[in-house]
Formats: sequence, structure tokens, C-alpha cells
Amino acid sequence: MAHETTSSAHDNILEISRQPRPLWDVEYLSATGAFDFSRLQLADVVLSLLVQTAEFRKIAKSSYRNFHVSAGAMAIKGARIGRVLGYNIKLDETDLVNIHAEDLVLAKASDYGFDKISVLAVIGPTQEDHASGRHTPTLHPCGRCRERLRESPLISDDTLIVTAKPDFTAIELATLGDIEKVHETNDSSGIESYSFGATPQVFSPLPQPDEHGHIRPSEHEVDDTDWQSTVGRFLTARYVEKMHHKT
Ligand SMILES: [Zn+2]
Repeated sequence: MAHETTSSAHDNILEISRQPRPLWDVEYLSATGAFDFSRLQLADVVLSLLVQTAEFRKIAKSSYRNFHVSAGAMAIKGARIGRVLGYNIKLDETDLVNIHAEDLVLAKASDYGFDKISVLAVIGPTQEDHASGRHTPTLHPCGRCRERLRESPLISDDTLIVTAKPDFTAIELATLGDIEKVHETNDSSGIESYSFGATPQVFSPLPQPDEHGHIRPSEHEVDDTDWQSTVGRFLTARYVEKMHHKT
């Protein structure tokens, strides 16, 4: 592909945003055994990705209309697994600079040479989908991002896409094809959708170190029943199903 000789403000800001930051927006998590997640690990991997993607959203201050979206990917490069985070950047009403969280994640994952994205998380407030006009329980990648994800060699039908409300009272799991189907034909049968009356406790903040740097164990055990009996159970079943297909 030929490089353009002139670069727009959009390109310049995308370039700057792709630079590594001290917030570990790109991090290698393990050097071994990344070809597949173990049955128990998959739910943990998704949980930690959601927590970290939500953390990253807190530093996203780059939407002129306070519409903050973050995305996070568990990506695989050979035998290594890594995590890549991004958020949306839109500085004013024009589309001169309009970088979606998924854009940054795809760009960074590709810059760092990842081969594929296993899990993609997207967290943001819900709004009507501009392309389809549909309202969904969680914010799905928009029409433009759906196209970009479809074109990306990092995304396949194996990629698990997890979308969540910022307070985690709604979480949806699907493949890109399942999400496309909702917006093209209003068929949401492929989407695994969970809603909770309140933020599941498993997402509550971890205890912070005191002035001596000690972390006190929480007074109460974190109750992860909400998570384990819903998303956790689904992920376990999905993994087992995949293993059956392989053998
Ligand atoms: Zn988008």
C-alpha cells in the first residue's frame, strides 16, 4: 500500500496516540502457553480485560461531548499473549479527528506485530447505533468499526467480542458475525446477553495500599456468584464446545 504524502490532523493525532504511554496500554502478560486459554483462565482473562479496559476509560478525556469509550484486546503473537488498550478521540464536532477506541486498539496491535486478537472488549455508554438505528443493551462497535474489524486480519470468527456498560450492569458476548446480524437483520439470537440489577461485586475496586504500602485484605470476601453463574459459566461452556470441535 502506498503511503500518502500529505497527512491530515486525523493521521497526526492517530500517530501520536499510538505512541507507547506509561499507562501500559500495550503489555506482554505471558511468554508461554498463549496458544489457547485453559478452561478456567478464559473467564479470568475476560474479567481482567474488562477491569483494565474500564480503568483505561477513566483516563479518556478526549471526547468533546463526554462520550467516552475504551476498548481492550487480548492479543496473541506467536507464543506470547499481550494486552492492548485504546480509547476514542474526538476533539470537536467535525470529523477531522474522529478516532474510535477500536481504531486505536487495531492500530497498536498491528504496530506491535500481534497475529490475532482473541478477546476484544468495548466499554461505553449506550446510544442508538448510527448505522442501523438500533438500541442495544450495550454499546456495540459502530458501523464504521464493524467494517474495520471485518477487514482486519487480527479479527476472526474465533474472536470473542465482549461489550459492557461502564457500570457492568449489562454485558454482552458475541462474535463479530453475531453483532453484524443484530444490526443488519435485527436477529440478536447469537448474542449472549446478561444484565444485573447492580454492578456485580467482582468488579468492585481492589483494596488500595495504605500509607505504609500494605494492602489489607478486604473485610468481606468478594462474592463472585453473579459473574461465575452467568458470564463465567458461559465462557466455560464455550471453551468446552470449542475443544469438542477441535477433536
Ligand atoms: Zn466505532
